[in-house]
Amino acid sequence: MKPKERMAIPRQKPKELSVQERIDNFREIVFGFDHDTAMLEAERCLQCKKPGCVKGCPLHNDIPGFIKHLREGRIEDAYWTIRKTSSVPAICSRVCPQEFQCEGSCIRGKKGEPVSIGMLERYVVDWMVENNKNLMEPCALPIDKKVAIVGTGPAGMTVAYNLAHKGIYCTMYDSLPVLGGMLHVGIPPFRLPRDIIKAEFDALKACGVKIIDNITIGKDKSLQELKDEGFDAIFLGVGAHESRKLDIPGEDLEGVMHGVDYLREVFLGNRIDLGNRVVVVGGGNVAIDVARVALRLGSKDVFILYRRTKKEMPASQAEIHHLEEEGVNMEFLAAPVAIHGEGGRLNKIECIRMELGEPDASGRRRPVPIEGSNFFIEADAIIAAISQRVNPTVVNGIEVKRTRWGTFEVNPETLQTSVPWIFAGGDDVLGPQTVAKAAYQGRIAAESIEKYVKGEL
Ligand SMILES: Cc1cc2nc3c(=O)[nH]c(=O)nc-3n(C[C@H](O)[C@H](O)[C@H](O)COP(=O)(O)OP(=O)(O)OC[C@H]3O[C@@H](n4cnc5c(N)ncnc54)[C@H](O)[C@@H]3O)c2cc1C
Repeated sequence: MKPKERMAIPRQKPKELSVQERIDNFREIVFGFDHDTAMLEAERCLQCKKPGCVKGCPLHNDIPGFIKHLREGRIEDAYWTIRKTSSVPAICSRVCPQEFQCEGSCIRGKKGEPVSIGMLERYVVDWMVENNKNLMEPCALPIDKKVAIVGTGPAGMTVAYNLAHKGIYCTMYDSLPVLGGMLHVGIPPFRLPRDIIKAEFDALKACGVKIIDNITIGKDKSLQELKDEGFDAIFLGVGAHESRKLDIPGEDLEGVMHGVDYLREVFLGNRIDLGNRVVVVGGGNVAIDVARVALRLGSKDVFILYRRTKKEMPASQAEIHHLEEEGVNMEFLAAPVAIHGEGGRLNKIECIRMELGEPDASGRRRPVPIEGSNFFIEADAIIAAISQRVNPTVVNGIEVKRTRWGTFEVNPETLQTSVPWIFAGGDDVLGPQTVAKAAYQGRIAAESIEKYVKGEL
């Protein structure tokens, strides 16, 4: 069957936005609870004896415990209860996909609306900030041990937080000029305002953590050189920043970009004009963030192309809801098979319709192409947001074992790699995951590193 033509839309440059318009577009959009709403919501918690929410939370935060303090009006105690297990509460309260984790296992949630754990956590943290309370405990007296942390994402931040509080000198390195990893160059500021990330780093610096940005370990300096400089152990928290390609003809045309590369460019302050009609390929949080950012930067017709249906989208329900409210359309059961262009620039995308077959390893029904169902979509840009891989060059010159997925192989209990003085955690071990899971691994790695440098591991 001959591919059908979609209505052609003339290519235009997106509307030029003023600096103020751009800033307004990126303001945080979800308001926090006020005091009365927080108290009413806290009252809904059943205070279960065997709380599923604690098990569901990757950090195992004492959720009923902090909610109990909140109900009693002891907000500082509520904060310190969370802080015992979470090094990044302000961040997790905003971006944790709680519907899959804590709330999914909430007894109340099994019968109706779950308790809004994230919003309550956010209320507690925001209250501490508004009331100028200390966000970190005092630091421990230094002991004569030094640890280098490669990567300033939530995994690295958590290692630094925990080791600094044990008196171990930490130096963090990052190849980017900004700190926070994907918190800064992935998650958009309308979901996670940048002053929250900055506050965490200010607190780490106040604890004596040294931070060196704009240096790529494995290129500007090797791990062996760090060891020779006197670091007793090294933690790798380099994340998964390499975009997976679509592997279809035409992917090298101008106008084709990849999700995390696009977001990184935008959040490093580089202007990228995609044109008006933008197709984003993928169904996860990255695809949704890309679409919402493109819309805010002036593209008028942005839509998501996903090979399964809405039900199978891995993105969080809340993000899908915002996406739809903001006017991004979704085209389901379709995938790109080729990108066509003229003069080196893309002008249309050839797609094929899909139907759902048997479930695959992930438990979701596998998308199967429908032969002869090809169709074209006119577009100015296509952004593929279909997952990321680990860039292993950080270990250049050292034989560190990796898994068949390219992640670092670690002892699951200690997070020690095949090289005893190198530990790893976060997305570079788990593959692209979540802030809370990266922070949890940071906590485990810090415990092991402390034992290792003291000769107790
Ligand atoms: C667009 C997007 C949206 C997301 N939304 C959510 C969400 O809503 N909720 C959620 O929980 N999770 C979300 N995530 C996932 C979450 O951000 C990651 O799982 C988490 O940041 C991983 O933490 P990490 O510390 O392992 O690595 P990262 O945060 O990726 O940090 C790694 C750091 O290492 C640095 N680095 C890499 N190589 C080197 C080197 N050789 N030398 C020096 N430095 C190096 C990088 O520059 C980076 O700063 C999202 C991710 C993206 C991309």
